[in-house]
Amino acid sequence: MLGKNVLPLISPEDLPRLQKIFIETLSGNPQSYEVEVFNKNKETLILAVNNVPLFHGDSITGTVSFGRDITNQKIAEKKIQEQSKFLQSILEALTYPFYVIDAKDYTIKLANKAAMNDRLGKGSTCYAITHKFNRPCNSEDHPCPLEIVKQTKKPTQVEHLHHSDDGRLQNSEVHGYPIFDDNGDLIQIIEYSMDISDRKKAEEAIIEAKEKAEEMNRLKSNFLANMSHELRTPMIGILGFAEILKGESDISEMKKIADSIYSSGNRLMETLNQILDLSLIEADKHKINTSEVKIADIVLESVKLNKPFADSNNLFLQTSINDKTAAAKLDERLLLQIINNLVNNAIKFTEEGGVTVEVGKDRIDGKSCVVIKVKDTGIGISKEHHNFIFEEFRQVSEGLGRTYEGSGLGLSITKKFVDLLGGKILLDSQIGKGSTFIVLFPSIKTIKSKKKITENDIPASEDGTVSYPGSKILLVDDDQNTIDLVKLNLKNICSVQDAPNGETAI
Ligand code: ADP
Repeated sequence: MLGKNVLPLISPEDLPRLQKIFIETLSGNPQSYEVEVFNKNKETLILAVNNVPLFHGDSITGTVSFGRDITNQKIAEKKIQEQSKFLQSILEALTYPFYVIDAKDYTIKLANKAAMNDRLGKGSTCYAITHKFNRPCNSEDHPCPLEIVKQTKKPTQVEHLHHSDDGRLQNSEVHGYPIFDDNGDLIQIIEYSMDISDRKKAEEAIIEAKEKAEEMNRLKSNFLANMSHELRTPMIGILGFAEILKGESDISEMKKIADSIYSSGNRLMETLNQILDLSLIEADKHKINTSEVKIADIVLESVKLNKPFADSNNLFLQTSINDKTAAAKLDERLLLQIINNLVNNAIKFTEEGGVTVEVGKDRIDGKSCVVIKVKDTGIGISKEHHNFIFEEFRQVSEGLGRTYEGSGLGLSITKKFVDLLGGKILLDSQIGKGSTFIVLFPSIKTIKSKKKITENDIPASEDGTVSYPGSKILLVDDDQNTIDLVKLNLKNICSVQDAPNGETAI
């Protein structure tokens, strides 16, 4: 290089600038600058150069230039610039606010457009920008994500009310991520927030709709319960008087009419009872009185009650008690209703043969259970209907052309009662081959049978009527028909005094 001209090493476009720099140096002013030069392989190098004047006595005779190769440094700087531009483009592409916040003083070090970065000044803090507070967040409504991240050293997520671009308050989901230095100390957090106002509104609407639906359901159940009571009271009168007419009338035509009133009334009463049961279950008002119950006792009671119905359909109704000791903790009344519903259905859906109610014990899933089976030789139920007949109002034969009468509520109530008592109901059935409904309850150790009042314990008159001469009954009821009916029924048995309410009775 010595003795050579430097000009060919410099790019021609740079020459005017360098000329000025050299003139300035020759005027006595040292200069620092960067310049691109070519090396001997014709590769471009970037030099950081210092030019100082060369004095000879008082006069300047030339310049001395010191050049340092900063090519690699420049390449690295360019790469960093490109990367930061790339990151900035990603941040700007985000439609939700994004910040990097200093862990020491809550100042925002970096933000994107969605975070209103054009309005941020030096030292702007996260709390001033998003909350218009003059102190960091600290309440339960506004737990500070930075504080949480500081304590836990883990990412966090909180819900805040933020001031939006247009000054609205919006529900925001705020996410905070820690940034640590090499010593593991938290130096910054990354925070981004998403507008969840619509989601919040939808959640509130769902909660409101749910509460409304529950309230409506409660009102409906109360209404049904009241209506059922209002309808049942006069029905008791109709049924009772029809029964008396049936027994006392000598005219066969009248007997027939009374019979019709009685059976139609009974059907209506059964439906009313089912509606009442369902509404009580739905309103969660069914009272359960559990006690230790011997299953055979209740099965025998149910069979006795349903025998006339089976007889009138020329069907047998029998029991098969395989285990007399089978017992469970149940509500006697509900158990009787469960068995009655199943036996009643079994008779209703059987044309020939009959119904057998079995009682036994078994180990199921390692637990001892009492097993009640109501088996019939009836029409059977196809597999596809096995689940659906337990739903409210569902019947295998539906619509106006249906073959069997009924409300479609019996089995759903039965299942609900079984569930309430902690049991299980299963069905085994095939079309044309009959059905077996199986009810399981956790069994308890054998108990002694309660002594029930039997007919032998009651003094009976010659015509079979039971009488308690000299006995008095105080009847409290506000329905005159019911009072008349009871009095009529008890007229040869005991004397009855009545009162319309508890106060008068006392
Ligand atoms: P309902 O008897 O009032 O119609 P349920 O809820 O008691 O209502 O029964 C629903 C349906 O299940 C009945 O309509 C009938 O189709 C079917 N079902 C119930 N028990 C039997 C049975 N033992 N044999 C055949 N089908 C039955």
